[in-house]
Amino acid sequence: MPSTRWRGDCPRCAALCCLSLAFDRGEHFAFDKPAGEPCPLLGPHHACSLHALRDERGLGGCVAYDCLGAGQRVVEELFGGRSWQTDPALSRPMQEAFWRMRELQQLLLGLELTERLGLDPELTRRRQELVCRLDPPGGFDRATFDALALEAAKHDVREFLAGLRERLRRAEPARYRLPLAEPTSSARETDQPTRSASQTTTSSLRAKCASAGGPPTSSP
Ligand code: SF4
Repeated sequence: MPSTRWRGDCPRCAALCCLSLAFDRGEHFAFDKPAGEPCPLLGPHHACSLHALRDERGLGGCVAYDCLGAGQRVVEELFGGRSWQTDPALSRPMQEAFWRMRELQQLLLGLELTERLGLDPELTRRRQELVCRLDPPGGFDRATFDALALEAAKHDVREFLAGLRERLRRAEPARYRLPLAEPTSSARETDQPTRSASQTTTSSLRAKCASAGGPPTSSP
């Protein structure tokens, strides 16, 4: 079965992109939609009423979007499979978690891609420290996810990746977009990783965290 580690697995999600993201009418979207307002095409049980026709009805942005696996992580890991559709009080917390998780997945993917570079032991240890902060053994719950210092983690991951920039470019020229630069507004993202990045074979990062003795107890 193909891994959905870095891809949205919509049946396991609660249409979080259809709720959380804003659309701007134009080339990729046929109408405007503010962030936080459910897409008017969304029906019960998270089903898009136009799903098979999105491209031809001017919604290519929906087809192209991928949450990098953030949607199912939010629903399953943080909210126990519940949905804002049946529990409207969850709407805002789920959106906020989704925005943060999308950024977190992007950082983790960047770290994942460095695994093939043959890092020396010190860089491998540093990389693993960062992975464990973003993907702790056993996963997050809402309290630990809320407590995660995402901005500090973003800074540290970007600093780490920037130090490897030349090695990354040599290893995968122009193939991957890594989170080295400040992201654009996550609520309007229509970009996605390249197909090859989405299909990267994943390793068991959690297992490595556990075998390394668990995540650091405080930020370095
Ligand atoms: S947020 Fe991700 S998993 Fe959920 S519906 Fe959108 S693309 Fe699918």
